Amino acid sequence: MTDATYDVVVIGAGPGGYVAAIRAAQLGLRVACVEKGPRLGGTCLNVGCIPSKVMLESSERFAELKHGMLGHGIIVGPPTLDLARLHQRRDQIVAQLTGGVDLLFKKNKIARLVGHGRIGARLPSGAWQVAITDASGASGVETIVGTQSIVIATGSVPSSLRGVAFDHERIVDSTGALTFPKVPEHLVLIGAGVIGLELGSVWARLGAKVTVLEYLDRILAGVDREAADEAQKVLAQQGLAFVLGARVQSVTRRGDRVDVAWTDSENKHHVVDGDYALVAVGRRPYTDGLGLTEANVAVDPRGRIVVTDELQTTAPGVFAIGDCIRGPMLAHKAEAEGIAVAEILAGETAHIAYDAIPSIVYTHPEVAGVGKTEEELIESGTPYVKGRFKFATNGRALALGEGTGFVKLLAHKDTDRLLGAHILGPRAGDLIAELAMAINFGASAEDVARTCHAHPTLGEVVWEAAMDCARRSLHK
Ligand code: FAD
Ligand code: AMP
Repeated sequence: MTDATYDVVVIGAGPGGYVAAIRAAQLGLRVACVEKGPRLGGTCLNVGCIPSKVMLESSERFAELKHGMLGHGIIVGPPTLDLARLHQRRDQIVAQLTGGVDLLFKKNKIARLVGHGRIGARLPSGAWQVAITDASGASGVETIVGTQSIVIATGSVPSSLRGVAFDHERIVDSTGALTFPKVPEHLVLIGAGVIGLELGSVWARLGAKVTVLEYLDRILAGVDREAADEAQKVLAQQGLAFVLGARVQSVTRRGDRVDVAWTDSENKHHVVDGDYALVAVGRRPYTDGLGLTEANVAVDPRGRIVVTDELQTTAPGVFAIGDCIRGPMLAHKAEAEGIAVAEILAGETAHIAYDAIPSIVYTHPEVAGVGKTEEELIESGTPYVKGRFKFATNGRALALGEGTGFVKLLAHKDTDRLLGAHILGPRAGDLIAELAMAINFGASAEDVARTCHAHPTLGEVVWEAAMDCARRSLHK
């Protein structure tokens, strides 16, 4: 072996790692990617973004057939659910997309190394070794490869709760909640974050009673409060029962039942009985067995690998991206960092527009935001104007039967520069793209207002909200 067979070895093939590998190969670097799982694509393609969106789509159609057709003058009989087939469709889509990443690796001549990667020795030449063991670590056989640089893209795993042991049958994390073999009778959902509410929505639409226990006095922490509070009302109408200020203490399995014990804000004890419990209290960076300490790669108190603006860790030549570093745990943020790190390694300059990373909750309606929330502007004392427009009077929204929600734009009071955009409503996740672009380009609310938006589209609500920043909305 020469000191460095590769220019870069990426550890982890999620959306951060596989994108970094592809971009680095495009730029002419010799690239290998180590992945311990059987399939490429990481959390996102295997047990995250994609499978959850497949389930959301299927369950939304089921709910629509159940409740939503009469208004259109269409009478259908009650739908029946073939859950096994729904699961099968999800698995097929996951297989197709993860297989697609395999093809991209082949096309870009990226060496796929199967097994658990660990940072090895730093050689006198400055090159690094990466040790790869079989995924279980059982065989103890190690392969060593040499590389100029390492990119750590090992992602994250679900957090657990003290007092709660997953049995992965009745007491599950988000991965387990994708594959329930039957529709729960009563799903007790712990944590009203994005992942919990998406999966809670899936099973509520398919017929489960869902009780959401959330420690805070609000749902969707981090989302603009006005949008989150409105989302809570809509989700409650859809059957999700919210208990806020509820601190879950323990979950106990009793045959096919679970007892979820929680205390309220006055410290009174309560127990909810269900047949499944989903613990969705966040995710933690995953860096187990990476050899960080030996390589002098520092982590912060929350276990996130410390990086500079250039994604460089405290060890020279070792970089880190995605869920295992600071910032929102989102696939497109990991991808942006994957591209940036590859360009940096190829000697280019790279910039990530952290102020313009959209985030989306794929409930129905969707909740999407980019830039500052209203609370953040108030807290920082930034003077702002707020433009707001509802979907209720938009022709396209009404044709879709989707009049719930609003677009809210926040612009600087003096300069009119767009600082934040928040949408609760139909296709909010698609609508937010233009506002992420606007914020990234430093656009003003007036720039958006002077952009011609096609009629009749949902985008007209964005346009009206932009005009509302100057109090000249037309249909208000
Ligand atoms: P990961 O995708 O976690 O990939 C890390 C990879 O590294 C894994 O494949 C792992 O096996 C591998 N690995 C770890 N350690 C080693 C090692 N030592 N050696 C070899 N391989 C290793 N984000 C969105 O933007 N939109 C969504 O709609 C969305 N929905 C989600 C829904 C759910 C249910 C979940 C759980 C997450 C969702 N996310 C969503 C978050 C998104 O999945 C993550 O932000 C994203 O996957 C992070 O990418 P990553 O590349 O940093 O890490
Ligand atoms: P997120 O990090 O966005 O996935 O959200 C996780 C949610 O779980 C947050 O809103 C937390 O307040 C909530 N949470 C964390 N611990 C508990 C607990 N013990 N009981 C109830 N909710 C919790």
